[in-house]
Amino acid sequence: MRVIYPGSFDPITKGHLDIIKRIAPKSEKVYVAILNNSTKNYLFSLEERLELIRKSCEDIENIEVVYFDGLLVDFAKKLNCSIIIRGLRAVSDYEMEMQMALVNRSMYKDLETLFMVADGNYSYLSSSIVKEVASYGGDIEQYVPKCVAESLMKKLR
Ligand code: ADP
Repeated sequence: MRVIYPGSFDPITKGHLDIIKRIAPKSEKVYVAILNNSTKNYLFSLEERLELIRKSCEDIENIEVVYFDGLLVDFAKKLNCSIIIRGLRAVSDYEMEMQMALVNRSMYKDLETLFMVADGNYSYLSSSIVKEVASYGGDIEQYVPKCVAESLMKKLR
């Protein structure tokens, strides 16, 4: 199956990477799709987010990093994907994810959302918390790939 894993990835964390590494061997092709919403303020530019995901995933063969700014369902259709992958960390993720999955399915019946339970080691991790820890000078190496840690430190210096 061809799957699409959408998100902001601002920046990619070890939690995201864990999901990608778990789904890749079970898929024909994984599109990691960066949402670039022009009304949102990202710390990392689209190009930086793209590059950091590419570097972090360079040992995974069947993955392609792409970006989009419209409706996810339209983009998934264009790429011929039948599955949307989303990660579930806690019950707090559920409500929003459920709504998105239902609205997406109402627009495109053949597109299923598949939820993957976050690894216990990463279930507390989010891009926001990593940025917050880094902004106070905390060590973030255990939360993100090395290239992200370096890039984040440089940005905040
Ligand atoms: P979004 O703004 O779409 O939530 P994110 O980059 O925050 O974008 O997350 C993209 C996807 O990755 C979401 O499905 C989210 O639940 C999942 N995710 C985020 N952090 C983790 C984590 N630590 N473990 C597993 N999945 C995660």
